[in-house]
Amino acid sequence: MTLKLPIYMDHNATTPVAPEVFEAMRPYFMEQFGNAASRNHPFGWAAEAAVEAARAQIAQLIGCKPIEIVFTSGATESDNLAIKGVAYACREKGNHLVTCQIEHHAVLDSCKRLEKEGFQVTYIRPTRCGLVDPEDVAKAITGKTILVSVMLANNEIGTIQPLEKIGRICKEREILLHSDAVQGVGKVPVNVDTLGIDLLSLTAHKMYGPKGIGALYVRMGNPRVKLTAQMDGGGHEKGRRSGTLNVPGIVGLGKACELAGQVMADEAERLRRLRERLWAGIQARIDRVHLNGHARFRLPGNLNVSFEGVDGESLLMSLKEVAVSSGSACTSASMEPSYVLKAVGIAKTLAHTSIRFGLGRATSEEEVDYVVERLAEQVVRLRAMQTGGYGVHAGGADRKAAG
Ligand code: PLP
Repeated sequence: MTLKLPIYMDHNATTPVAPEVFEAMRPYFMEQFGNAASRNHPFGWAAEAAVEAARAQIAQLIGCKPIEIVFTSGATESDNLAIKGVAYACREKGNHLVTCQIEHHAVLDSCKRLEKEGFQVTYIRPTRCGLVDPEDVAKAITGKTILVSVMLANNEIGTIQPLEKIGRICKEREILLHSDAVQGVGKVPVNVDTLGIDLLSLTAHKMYGPKGIGALYVRMGNPRVKLTAQMDGGGHEKGRRSGTLNVPGIVGLGKACELAGQVMADEAERLRRLRERLWAGIQARIDRVHLNGHARFRLPGNLNVSFEGVDGESLLMSLKEVAVSSGSACTSASMEPSYVLKAVGIAKTLAHTSIRFGLGRATSEEEVDYVVERLAEQVVRLRAMQTGGYGVHAGGADRKAAG
């Protein structure tokens, strides 16, 4: 097989739309363009039927009822709706939330806003491997706690959280559990009942669906989660999220979920093998490398490595034909190392040397081997330059980790 450049190894940031997903969406742009809320004609009925079919496909993947799915514009909105929605709806009951320091900004900044409005938030510090200790969650819960929010898997270091245990603690204490499951849904098995999750955020573009469409699962029984809508308008989605539904996007999300359910087991195994090949290759060819995140409890396609003595940004710049991300700040243009690496206790200098590799459906052994070769070459060159007294920082703040 001939190698095609550039190589995409940033699947934690986003994924391409799968051909099957694109084909499923196609009719809903021009032929079946109806508004799913139009109740009086076939155009509306066709759109509504497509939306309901997608709701069922999503529900099937995460083990819930279709009616418990609320469509949103993506996981940022789902996280905002879950956290602020529960906080405002449960204000009478309490004003305390528990989350963890390595959550996505959609969760952290929603919490920060609530703090400005008088809510209190405990941010649990994870272990060095990025794990949230369920005991820490138990200790953080007070009589005023209304919500715990812990992500399923981290977008930078790939660590998968012990949600089942955290879910059990929340159930015992009758506290709602939200999980930002963006990175895990479609990659590893997720069942909201097994994990004890009451609200779950997901997004299509991390699972071979289109950008700009996501969903929030909201448990409707035992307990029935009360949510204050964050978007007021026409009362769509049973009043939980107003706004004309993005029918092609929803169809794409549904198809992406169906497809993920079909390929997940084999694909996870294949990705795990490729990731091990990448990590083994890096360790065999390069000294002073460190794995970030958990060795076992991690997303199959994620590898995050610190290359001691090499500026991550410079390494990125020298590997222009390989799309990966650095361990520096997620969305801003600042040169701060990633808050995730910082929170798990990785020193600033080492954090600056970190690269995130995100393997996906199209990743091949040839690509992995090529990346190992190029890394080995460039790490040696950059380390030699540094010991030779040359500046190693090549800028490139625009290539930081996204998502
Ligand atoms: N949560 C996590 C863990 C993510 O990785 C992302 C990715 O960007 C988001 C939330 C935001 O999702 P979206 O891009 O759909 O708003």
